[in-house]
Amino acid sequence: MNMRRRSNITRPQTAKALHSPTGMQPDYIITVNAEKLIRFADPAITGMFDFSVQERPGTSSSFFLTEPGKEQRSTGDLIAYRKGGVDFDMEATRSQFGAKTTIFIRDIGDRKYAQEMLSSNEENLRLTLETIPGLVYTQSPSGEIEYANRRVTEFLGKTLMELRCGGWIDALHPDEKDSILRSTIENFSLGQPYTMEYRCRRFDKAYRWFHISVQPLKNDRGEVIRWYSLLTDIHDRRDAEDSLRRTQSKLSQAAQVATVTELAAAIVHEISQPLSAMITNGQVCLHWLSASQPDLVEARDAVERLVQDGKDAREIIKGLRNLFKRSPLQKYPLDLKQIVNEVMALVHCRTEKEHIAVDLQLPRSLPKVAGDRIQIQQVLMNLVSNAIEAMQTTDSPRKLSIRAFQQEEMVLTEIEDHGIGVPDFDRIFDTLFTTKESGMGMGLPVCRSIIEAHEGRLWGAPSSSGGAVFSFTVPLFGSVHAGTIFA
Ligand code: ADP
Repeated sequence: MNMRRRSNITRPQTAKALHSPTGMQPDYIITVNAEKLIRFADPAITGMFDFSVQERPGTSSSFFLTEPGKEQRSTGDLIAYRKGGVDFDMEATRSQFGAKTTIFIRDIGDRKYAQEMLSSNEENLRLTLETIPGLVYTQSPSGEIEYANRRVTEFLGKTLMELRCGGWIDALHPDEKDSILRSTIENFSLGQPYTMEYRCRRFDKAYRWFHISVQPLKNDRGEVIRWYSLLTDIHDRRDAEDSLRRTQSKLSQAAQVATVTELAAAIVHEISQPLSAMITNGQVCLHWLSASQPDLVEARDAVERLVQDGKDAREIIKGLRNLFKRSPLQKYPLDLKQIVNEVMALVHCRTEKEHIAVDLQLPRSLPKVAGDRIQIQQVLMNLVSNAIEAMQTTDSPRKLSIRAFQQEEMVLTEIEDHGIGVPDFDRIFDTLFTTKESGMGMGLPVCRSIIEAHEGRLWGAPSSSGGAVFSFTVPLFGSVHAGTIFA
């Protein structure tokens, strides 16, 4: 008789199927002596194994027994080969009475098979939920989160444990939180499928709209044993609807006036610098020409600079026109590390002069983002200039940190300063809001428009240094709508 531990889930041919005419699970009994030799065997057992106990009553039973005398009773799951080499699972229980040992054997093939099929089904279900193109989580009948697929944890930037400890509720939009919780409780008590639409906060603090479809799983008695929720991102659809509504309302007189004011303010802000440079270079040119001996070389240099300034102004106007006309943005694969380095080279003289330590954390492996090079440069330049200006009047050590790292399908860039800080982060994004004597209050709103046109998000927050940290996200190249990409 051969015995081994079981290692796969192929359904064995059970002893029950072969030996129990009633279909009941039979017990078999074997009695062995102190030498571990079989003295008696249930007649039903004869057909189970590859020998006949009756024919060979002295056969060793060592496979059943632990060390004689050590334990009075022991139970364990084993595999036995039945006659003809077919194996089956069995449970053997040993009882010792003096020198005589009685072994009760039970065929547990059906039970084992059911257990293994159950865990295999659960594994299949888990794999399906992980590959579903949506956010899926399950809850117990009382609402505790039991499972969440990877898309949920990555989207929210929270672990399963954090979700269980209130992280899920925390990710709901404050405007909707109470009504969502109320209607969830009502729907749970009805035990029926239901749907909702609400916003959830992504890891980068952006809220996105979801359609939520919730299904109960019930047992034979009709009681809910688990709730399944599938969340589908409908933010872009809602955005399109919102933008349609906005466009319609912009047709009104008031909106038109506001747009013209914004556009005018933006143009003044953006081109005033190249215009001033043009005037200066024109004056320099006149100076060299009006000398008693005109210096044509210097005059020519000044005119060349003037022409270049004019070209810069033209490019800025072109960019602004595109931005405000909402013409489709042309997106190319961009290396953010390179853009940050270029911007830092441009402000190098300022950071040196102001004794600002610059700390760049740009991983080599940072993937490319999809965007317009000039516009992203403009955003970085604006945020870096604001950071430098915010440190001009502080005594604390001046430090500017720029970090970029991948988060899900985005690259997140943070610009942190040790400056004076921001009293109200909502107001500073308002058009024309400024606290600077020569400020225009257009930098941050324009930066935000640019980043939102890139399908990203820009926001500010207090920094632990006492200053501010401005963060923006830009989608990875390849993750945005194919129609807008120019590789
Ligand atoms: P401007 O720089 O022309 O004022 P912005 O829109 O760029 O326009 O900024 C608006 C205001 O936001 C600034 O005047 C300043 O008060 C505040 N601000 C922007 N960045 C920072 C920063 N890093 N630290 C402190 N305040 C800032």
